[in-house]
Amino acid sequence: MTTVDTAPQSQPFQAEVSQLLHLMVHSVYSETEIFLRELISNASDACDKLRYEAIAKPELIADGEPPKITIRPDKKQGTLTIADTGIGMDRQELIDNLGTIARSGTRAFMARLAEAKDGSGLIGQFGVGFYSAFMVADRITVISRRAGSDQAWTWSSSGGEGFEVAPASEEDAKRVGRGTEIVLHLKEDAKKYLEAYEIERIVAAYSDNIQFPILLVPEEGEPRQINSASALWQRPKSELTPEDYAKAYKSIAHAFDEPAMTLHYRAEGRYSYAVLLFAPSAKPFDLFEPARKGKVKLYVRRVFITDDADLLPAYLRFMRGVIDSEDLPLNISREMLQNNPQLVQIRKAVASRVIGELETLADKDAESFNKIWDAFGPVIKEGIYEDFERRDKLLALSRFSTTTGEKRSLKQYVADFKPNQTEIYFLVGDSIERLKSNPRLEAAAARGIEVLLLTDPVDAFWTSVPLEFEGKKLKSLSQGDLDLDLVPLVDDKAEKSEPAADETATIAVIKASLGDRVSDVRASTRLTTSASCLVAGSHGPDRELERLLSQQNRGERSRPILEINLRHPLVAAIASAGGEASAADDLSLLLLEQAQILDGELPDDPAGFAARLNRLVLKGIG
Ligand code: ADP
Ligand code: MG
Repeated sequence: MTTVDTAPQSQPFQAEVSQLLHLMVHSVYSETEIFLRELISNASDACDKLRYEAIAKPELIADGEPPKITIRPDKKQGTLTIADTGIGMDRQELIDNLGTIARSGTRAFMARLAEAKDGSGLIGQFGVGFYSAFMVADRITVISRRAGSDQAWTWSSSGGEGFEVAPASEEDAKRVGRGTEIVLHLKEDAKKYLEAYEIERIVAAYSDNIQFPILLVPEEGEPRQINSASALWQRPKSELTPEDYAKAYKSIAHAFDEPAMTLHYRAEGRYSYAVLLFAPSAKPFDLFEPARKGKVKLYVRRVFITDDADLLPAYLRFMRGVIDSEDLPLNISREMLQNNPQLVQIRKAVASRVIGELETLADKDAESFNKIWDAFGPVIKEGIYEDFERRDKLLALSRFSTTTGEKRSLKQYVADFKPNQTEIYFLVGDSIERLKSNPRLEAAAARGIEVLLLTDPVDAFWTSVPLEFEGKKLKSLSQGDLDLDLVPLVDDKAEKSEPAADETATIAVIKASLGDRVSDVRASTRLTTSASCLVAGSHGPDRELERLLSQQNRGERSRPILEINLRHPLVAAIASAGGEASAADDLSLLLLEQAQILDGELPDDPAGFAARLNRLVLKGIG
């Protein structure tokens, strides 16, 4: 046995942890009971980890002690103890795991928590895990022994700035043979958690699906198991109710919302596996954190292997649940998972199944589907450019805001094509309001043509690849040529009005004034009332995509094409300003600057813009 320094050592919490504890101690939370779910979930993880490590090192479980979780209330002491016979923690693990918080999005989470009236939902959703116990306890002692180690350690803290670590007393070390014991010294207003019926209620609500037995050791009477400890996904569908599934979802996904979709089946054949997957109905606030990954758990014959195996494509990363394989080797290393041919098969089959289920849901239960789409549509759309094979299916699943309504599918759009319409039109921008007043819509509006209004950041990306739906091309109204002439005007008088300006002469004047600020100047088929707009060439990226990329310093913007409306008086004025070069320059630049402003951009030279505008206004007044 190595000698250990027996004096307790004080350690500060990582700053984020102190902040978090401060917030939790000084705010009011209605659902403090989630601490129990968190501690039981950690205990269960610890039993899972031991079972996994013991595959390679059977000596870790040679003592024959089965994995289990024990809950022991003690009214005299005012303590609630949650113990497990899992993997345990050594000194360094206690310091690292219970002194820091390494979750992505922690800062954003704390900012939200500081503002929230009641942050219970947030705490549950983010999963502050172990630290949530400080909502109910003013002091916590953890005694832990790592499996295979002969040294047990004690960690204790009253929240605040730090904690102490010391070798466990002889008595504690004897009691904790392997695993972890967490002793909560409950606050006065949390004493209700010492009641057996309270504990049973909470376990039934959140932790019934924990696979290991949870034993309640009452102060009087015999210990008894208070969960069903079965892997729900292994049970036949016919035995399970929607409530069973909702409970399973909450316990597997640490969620508070109801699942909007449940997919439970068993695949038999070359490979056998059970699948239990859920789509949440509420959007987690860290959905777009780069570190956030799919959280579908991989089990092999009921043994938890990892929740880090990318079991679904990234654009389905909002799905939660379990895949339990019958044929993978138990001792498969996490590194080997990536290229395992069997897993590649499973991944493919399950992704198709999920998409099929979403299609069915969209048909049969639009309300639930819309919940999923509202929360995760922007993520699913990533698949349109990432997953070539399923592109058509994903396009068909997608719902869009359009000039005629919300949540329109492309199927509906195509069904409502105007006579002679051959393409699906869209416009990408940053808000529906801004897009609705976009001059590029004018020609389409004059023909009553519906236009998809795309405002999610991801829209600029997936629309950058050539796409078709049912043989109809998707076409940006801000890019390339536009030919709507075959579609009749709603009000055909507008058609009759003659262009006021001569095309060749006007374009020549504007080109001379603008020089290389633009790549081309041409007469517009898009505009009916506005004077000008900017478009991208047919082959370059859309202007909205360029704007996004240049904001992230990922590329230069190319020179746009200026389109002008020959029927507009301002354009006519340029032609007639003819000889007076400075007036033609002012007007041409204004056409360009207006178009930039309508795109939500600043003119290249704001001061010059103001000066030009003033000159022209004064001329008008004079
Ligand atoms: P999370 O469970 O999301 O990782 P927690 O705050 O709940 O976050 O726990 C932090 C870490 O502390 C866990 O990842 C685990 O390594 C360790 N831990 C907590 N409880 C136990 C336990 N009962 N047995 C072993 N390790 C534990
Ligand atoms: Mg946890």
